[in-house]
Amino acid sequence: MDVHNVNIDISAVEPKQYPSNGYPEIALVGRSNVGKSSLTNVLINRNGYARTSNKPGKTQTLNFYNLDEKLFFVDIPGYGYAKISKAQRAKWGEMIETYLTTRKQLKGVVLLIDGRRAPSQDDLQMYEFLKYYDIPTLVLATKMDKTPKSKWNKEVSILNKTVDLNDGDEIQLFSALSKYGKEEVWKWIESKTGV
Ligand code: GDP
Repeated sequence: MDVHNVNIDISAVEPKQYPSNGYPEIALVGRSNVGKSSLTNVLINRNGYARTSNKPGKTQTLNFYNLDEKLFFVDIPGYGYAKISKAQRAKWGEMIETYLTTRKQLKGVVLLIDGRRAPSQDDLQMYEFLKYYDIPTLVLATKMDKTPKSKWNKEVSILNKTVDLNDGDEIQLFSALSKYGKEEVWKWIESKTGV
């Protein structure tokens, strides 16, 4: 999809605040700092639209990006941020779980994993959760520009070994810097949403 207009329509913490126009939604999930904002900017051809930073844990709401009145990207606040309280963590968990398990418009999740290391326990737990609810998932290994191409096959085989892929789910390598994988990510999103 070639995106022309992007708006952050809605920041929501609970279902009554979710958008009501019925467009399909793709959620972006992953550890804080894994590169969700950078992925969003690459996919929508904007530099610096979604805020990127080195400060993890900034977003605590679900942010709905309206793409051309056709599709929403839903930015899910990153997990694995140590400096939040237990109470905040519980609230976060409830917000995410409610969204992922009840939202009819949700057509798929892009689960971002740092391509430089093996998936963390948090990553694997998140994937198991998505699998349990049978939510179509693209496992995206990010920051691949930091790994020499000669080691990319090894990265894929590590992912294949550690992530027990659900039928129909896929693994894709990605770099926001070189834009490697951009077309494949869009193809996956288009196949899930019909946009
Ligand atoms: P978010 O917290 O998941 O939204 O992560 P950001 O998109 O803000 O990225 C966190 C940091 O990683 C920033 O400094 C980005 O510039 C950097 N980053 C994100 N994606 C890539 C990538 O593909 N390659 C490289 N080299 N750096 C990246």
